[in-house]
Amino acid sequence: MRWIITALVVLGCLIGAYAWLGSDIPEREGKPMQGKVEKPESEWRAQLTPEQYRVAREKGTERAFTGAYWDTKTPGTYECICCGQPLFTSETKFDSGTGWPSFWQPVEENSVSLHSDNAWLMRRTEVVCSRCDAHLGHVFKDGPKPTGLRYCMNSAALKLVPKEGK
Ligand SMILES: [Zn+2]
Repeated sequence: MRWIITALVVLGCLIGAYAWLGSDIPEREGKPMQGKVEKPESEWRAQLTPEQYRVAREKGTERAFTGAYWDTKTPGTYECICCGQPLFTSETKFDSGTGWPSFWQPVEENSVSLHSDNAWLMRRTEVVCSRCDAHLGHVFKDGPKPTGLRYCMNSAALKLVPKEGK
């Protein structure tokens, strides 16, 4: 009998830890400044390269250290590859060592939406463009100050627009 109770306590702790780990980045719907953009998949496919389409419209992930922006330090604004909405700036980009462009904050709260993602038995929080629902990447809680967040993005979902001047 005792082993059953022990097993139940252990199981309870595991479930509790599992629920707790992914639960404190709440889901949130961003409200895009210029309204939603919706297009049939065929139009996105025509507009994007195959890699951009795979990442942004099919929730793909580019291989680490292969994207255009993981090591980029050029000042500027990162826009959504699909709809052009500004998403992140170089001022909140940091070197995470992961091989993906990482930011501690979006350009504006409303520029992204956060959805819980339980694929592959991992509790993660998916980050999408609030305007066109493009898959951008995931957000984790191991980022630097001041937010402590790490927005781990795919280069293929972003377009860097360099700042004018020097
Ligand atoms: Zn977008």
